[in-house]
Amino acid sequence: MIHKVFTQNTDTLHLESGLSEDVLIHAHGTTGKAHCAVCKAYDSFSELNKALVKGEVRYCKPCSQQGKKSPIKPSVVFFGESLPDEFKLQAQKKALENVDLLLIMGTTLKVQPFSHISKLVPQHAPQVLINRSNEDVASGDTYTESGDHGRLFLKGDCDDVVKRIVEAAEWEEDLLEILPQRHSDFVK
Ligand SMILES: [Zn+2]
Repeated sequence: MIHKVFTQNTDTLHLESGLSEDVLIHAHGTTGKAHCAVCKAYDSFSELNKALVKGEVRYCKPCSQQGKKSPIKPSVVFFGESLPDEFKLQAQKKALENVDLLLIMGTTLKVQPFSHISKLVPQHAPQVLINRSNEDVASGDTYTESGDHGRLFLKGDCDDVVKRIVEAAEWEEDLLEILPQRHSDFVK
């Protein structure tokens, strides 16, 4: 069972893959939503999109009622902005305390505070790094292909490695059942 998926991606591909919003933490926000840059009130992303296509700025209604012109922005974290409330590691600590396996995919954990996630899971829980490289892992942990100390490195592109895992565990049929139709080529 998946407890949480922490992602630095701002696209909505995780949602489209069928993952529930309850387990998904967009650490850098998501392009599927929009909010006021000043009062943070949520706004319509599709309306923002329409304005952007026309080259116009969309302004916040609650703010304009108070005589302020505050722009609406996509709910992604721009350079210099703080991370969204949902990505408060302290708030996630309880969920992380209960994990019995941590999968780290497509990153060497260089971005703070993201890299702390590997430190918040129980020390005895095995961790698997799926990445092209296990060099310069910023968390300070060492992930090896022999899996020493419960830290395993599986070298390769994420899709290829996951495919290998699925085949080795003979999960192809189970995966096909839960996979949205457009992804089913993945296991063929
Ligand atoms: Zn506002």
